[in-house]
Amino acid sequence: MHTNSSIGCNVTECKYHAGSKNLCTLDHIDVVKHTQKADTVECTDCGSFVKS
Ligand code: SF4
Repeated sequence: MHTNSSIGCNVTECKYHAGSKNLCTLDHIDVVKHTQKADTVECTDCGSFVKS
């Protein structure tokens, strides 16, 4: 499996998670904010998440 060592991720529920390693398998992800203005880390998320 191709993994991207530049994108660490612990969202094991995602279709693109590497499984045994806490890495993403995509070459590119979109990080998004879900509030108008991001003030805290909770305001940001991975926009490329797809439920596995
Ligand atoms: S797409 Fe986002 S949530 Fe899914 S494994 Fe990659 S970084 Fe994690």
